[in-house]
Amino acid sequence: MAPRKGELTEEEKELVQVISKGNVQDAAQLLGSKEVRVNCLDEHGMTPLMHSAYKGRADMCKLLLQHGADVNCNEHEHGYTALMFGCLSGKKDIVWMMLEAGADTDAVNSVGRTAAQMAAFVGQHDCVTVINNFFPREKLDYYTKPQGLSKEAKLPVKLAGPLHKIITTTNLHPLKIIFLIKENPLLLDQEALKKCSMVLDLICEKCMKQKDMNEVLAMKMHYISCIFQKCATFLQEGEDKLDTLIKNLLKGRDGDCFPVFQEKFIRESIRKFPFCEATLLQQLVRSIAPVEIGSDPTAFSVLTQAITGQVGFVDAEFCTTCGEKGADKRCSVCKLVIYCNQNCQKLHWFTHKKVCKTLKEKREKQELEAAKEKKRQEKLAEKEEKANESGLAIEETPDGESEKPKETEDQVTSESSDAAEKVDVSATTSESSADPNVSQTSDSSEK
Ligand SMILES: [Zn+2]
Ligand SMILES: [Zn+2]
Repeated sequence: MAPRKGELTEEEKELVQVISKGNVQDAAQLLGSKEVRVNCLDEHGMTPLMHSAYKGRADMCKLLLQHGADVNCNEHEHGYTALMFGCLSGKKDIVWMMLEAGADTDAVNSVGRTAAQMAAFVGQHDCVTVINNFFPREKLDYYTKPQGLSKEAKLPVKLAGPLHKIITTTNLHPLKIIFLIKENPLLLDQEALKKCSMVLDLICEKCMKQKDMNEVLAMKMHYISCIFQKCATFLQEGEDKLDTLIKNLLKGRDGDCFPVFQEKFIRESIRKFPFCEATLLQQLVRSIAPVEIGSDPTAFSVLTQAITGQVGFVDAEFCTTCGEKGADKRCSVCKLVIYCNQNCQKLHWFTHKKVCKTLKEKREKQELEAAKEKKRQEKLAEKEEKANESGLAIEETPDGESEKPKETEDQVTSESSDAAEKVDVSATTSESSADPNVSQTSDSSEK
């Protein structure tokens, strides 16, 4: 029997209290009781899941979903759903969790607002982005069935899984998307890529023409479609030609090693968006057009920010090769570029080696100056201390682009066991062309 509003058992009342306190262990215990129904309703028609979402407690939401909480329960007095409560709390992870649990994004509250519209109304734009970026598997599966009079489906069933994985990625770096393509042998085929690209274009069109227009998702679909098309073109010339595309995208220009081809490719993809009246397109073009190639912001960062809402590219650790967040492997020579793994470092080496030494020298010079400055400051502080016993300036380190010398030392010791790192060190002592990394990513296909 479905729970009725306001008819809570003592244990259920306790659960609601435990939720607002945030004690997951107590909640788990209560959920094990026969007296507790996971979808019980308080006097306002709120379920425990709605309470948890509203309080912004992700771990509690997870627990309740594991216990079979109904994500689409719609008994609230104002028609709010758990997804809407998640939006009100401004917690992106909760919004994502609700979507993955099958939350209906089209459900409206008593004044006719969807969760995304509600989030926008209260200024939770990150939550709007999460909703806009979400694309349920069922919507893609639609294309795996023949529609209308056609006998053949637009998308072979076997491609739906790998394509869905790419669609839901939040790292839009072209290299990352190509890695995802390469990862799956089913996608490494010209015809398969063309079919996927066509379906992406159809979804893009649908996003623009539906009643509740979603420009963000439309742009994302279009952009991924452009990458698929590019890959198909390269594959046409040979199975190994995808590696040529990867190299082209990574190749840095002389001087600052800026990847010009990559920048131009992303800019061109954005400009090719088929709905020229779209506000998002105009915004993107306005932000990118005045920027000289090689300056900030890059087309990639502008696009990523528009689609995922991710900001702070400068501070966060992103892989130089594939844009993956949380990269922590540093080039052991220059210590100025970071990668997520050895593979990314190897791929980048053919172009990075041209500037690595210069970067290293630059860093060392900066470090030396920093050390000198530090000594100078210390002496100064010593003098001051003698003068008034306070010694305030000792802790102060001078500003500079390079890291503090102490930190770089830590890097060396923590990563020196890594084989590839050692290889790189040898690159500075011997000639760089003798580096094994280089022979692995052969330079023959360059240019
Ligand atoms: Zn990477
Ligand atoms: Zn380096």
